[in-house]
Amino acid sequence: MNCKCGRDAVYLRVQEGVHYCPACLSRQTERQFEKTISKGKMLEKNDTVAVGVSGGKDSMVLLHLMKKLSEKLPMKLIAVTVDEGIAGYRDRSIGAINEFVKAMDIEHQTFSFENEFDITIDNLVKNDPSIKSCTYCGVFRRTLLNKAAREVSATKLAVGHNLDDEAQSILMNVMRGDVTRMARLAKTSEHFVRRIKPMKNIPEKEIVAYAILNNIPYFDGECPNSFNNARRDVQALLNNMEQKYPGTKSNVISFYRKLPTLEEKGIIMRCAKCGEPSSHETCKACELLDKVGTK
Ligand code: SF4
Ligand SMILES: [Zn+2]
Ligand SMILES: [Zn+2]
Repeated sequence: MNCKCGRDAVYLRVQEGVHYCPACLSRQTERQFEKTISKGKMLEKNDTVAVGVSGGKDSMVLLHLMKKLSEKLPMKLIAVTVDEGIAGYRDRSIGAINEFVKAMDIEHQTFSFENEFDITIDNLVKNDPSIKSCTYCGVFRRTLLNKAAREVSATKLAVGHNLDDEAQSILMNVMRGDVTRMARLAKTSEHFVRRIKPMKNIPEKEIVAYAILNNIPYFDGECPNSFNNARRDVQALLNNMEQKYPGTKSNVISFYRKLPTLEEKGIIMRCAKCGEPSSHETCKACELLDKVGTK
C-alpha cells in the first residue's frame, strides 16, 4: 500500500483506514502534538516547562518534541526525574536520561523518594512483599513531581501521557468508582503547577513508531513490581477491545470529555501535615506514609 504522498506505507491507522510512510507519520505526530498544545492553550511564550522524564519511550519522545517546539516558541526546558528507589530499573533508566539530556543540552534534575519521604519502593516491598507498591509509587510520584516543578520555578509541568494512558486512567477511575479523581483530572488549582499532556491524543503505537523513526533512545526495561499493577490488566482489556472494535480507546476518552465538569468548590486545601495541596485534611501521600510508618 502507498501513502498519500506516493511513497511505500509502513503504518495503517485502522480507524480511519489511512496509510502512512515514515516521513508523513512523523509529520502527523508532530502536527497532532502542536495542535493539542494550541487547542488546549497549554503553553505561552517564555514559559518555564518542567518535563517529567522517566526514560521510557513516552517521556523521551515528549522531551524531543518539546525541544523541537522550543525552536519555534521560546521557552525554558528543565527535565525532572523522580527516582522511586527501584534498583536495576530506575537507576538504569536514569543512565539513559543522562545521556539523552546531555546530547540535547537540556538541564536535568532528579528528585528521590528517599530524600523526600525517607523511603524507597525497594524497602517497602522488602518489608512487606504483599504491599501494593504501585499505589504508593503513583501517589508519591505525583506529589513529588508537583513539588519538583515548583522547586525549579516551572510555570508548567509537561508529562508524557499518551492516548492509551488517558483511556486507561479513565476506565480505572470508573472501575474504582472514584469520581473525585475524575474531577481532579479536569481541574486546575493555583497550588498545582499546571500539568499539561501534549501527547494525550497520540496513540502509544504511534509514539513507539516516532521514537524508532527518529532514533530517539529510550529505556524499555520493566519494573520488577509491574506484575502487581492493575493498570496492566486494564491496558490488556483495552488493547483487546481496540483490536476487535477499532476506536474503542478514543470513544472512552470522548465519553469522559463530554461529561460536565464537576464543581468542586473548596475541595482543594493544604495538607495539615506537609502543606502540599490536598482534597482532604491529610493528603494521600501522608496517609500512605503513615501506613508504612516513616513519618
Ligand atoms: S510498576 Fe508500580 S512500582 Fe514500578 S514504577 Fe510503575 S508504579 Fe512504580
Ligand atoms: Zn507519505
Ligand atoms: Zn501531606
